Amino acid sequence: MIYLDYAADTPVDVQVLDLFCQINQVAFGNANGTHLSGKNAKQLIKQATIKIKNLLNCSTSEVIYTSGATEANNLAIKGVARNYREVGRHIISTCLEHASVSGSLKQLQSIGYEIDLVSIRKDGTVDLDHLNELIREDTILVSINYVDSELGICQPIPSIATIVAAYPNCFFHVDATQAVGKIPIHLDQIDLVTFSPHKFFGLNGMGVLLKSESLILEPQIHGGTSTSYYRSGTPFTAGAGATALALELCMAELKERLTQVTVKNDWLKKQLSAYPLVAFNSTGHAIPHILNLSVKGVKAQAFQAALSDRKVCISIKSACSTDSTPSRSVLTVTGSRDLARSSWRISLCHLTTDSELQEFMDIFDYCYKSLTKK
Ligand code: PLP
Repeated sequence: MIYLDYAADTPVDVQVLDLFCQINQVAFGNANGTHLSGKNAKQLIKQATIKIKNLLNCSTSEVIYTSGATEANNLAIKGVARNYREVGRHIISTCLEHASVSGSLKQLQSIGYEIDLVSIRKDGTVDLDHLNELIREDTILVSINYVDSELGICQPIPSIATIVAAYPNCFFHVDATQAVGKIPIHLDQIDLVTFSPHKFFGLNGMGVLLKSESLILEPQIHGGTSTSYYRSGTPFTAGAGATALALELCMAELKERLTQVTVKNDWLKKQLSAYPLVAFNSTGHAIPHILNLSVKGVKAQAFQAALSDRKVCISIKSACSTDSTPSRSVLTVTGSRDLARSSWRISLCHLTTDSELQEFMDIFDYCYKSLTKK
């Protein structure tokens, strides 16, 4: 198998898995409990939390553990909307967001919130002038991802944060799920940050929401107190420990891995450029981990099936939006329905080997020739 879908999920690092097993064995008590075992578990969560805050340089944030970035995005968006509904009901986002953001916004829209989508420029980045035009005194939230999962475009988050900061009633939420552990990130002036360790060799079924201390969310899961007011239920002690270690391991090698992935992406683009019907949908602002492309005239599903038959794993749109409608993100950035229909995503990491890429190109060549011949 050639796995080129690391933006969807990554294998768990063995050190992370070891720690996960260890914590489950030695600190299995409920961290909400008041006996010794509970206190030990609570202490482990506290240590993990401190480590995460230090690694991400966000000492004033509260760390809320969830079941994934999907839940973290729901909590951030609905939590702000419901808690600050008397202040305003206007929210700004983009059409490049993950389904858990766009779905939460759609739900809020159905109950009377006003949602505006800021324009995206041809290079895939947010139009800051348009954001300045849209934002107003009753805007309570701007939610924009750091890097989108389909095209991999990295947004100008510090510039967006500066615009939002001029509006005291407005909070800034960043879904950084495709950025954390992959590229250097800057979290100044951001009130809410989502990420998910299974994107950086941590556990699946685990997510994190960083929340600035001054912000209050309406919890979305009710019943019982917990280590966090915002998330009822028995805390996932081993998950918290494993997340902190996964983050630590990635951050220690961030620069080196980024360089490795850049070299692989450059090589791949050079090879693919030799095919006249290949168009790259990821722009120059994309992170090297994600390469979105179209083979013009060939539906994405047909290309994916041909690759999949030969044991190559790539994805269409993102793992959470696999219906057969054309990609909204690709349509927005390229303006072409044909490219949107034929777009698919290769995603790389430092584990991707040169021989895997060479083998991929051989298979790609075969599929390209058979699917494009008249
Ligand atoms: N946000 C982005 C940008 C993603 O890419 C993903 C997963 O693909 C998610 C959120 C959802 O993550 P999770 O699987 O942890 O719910």
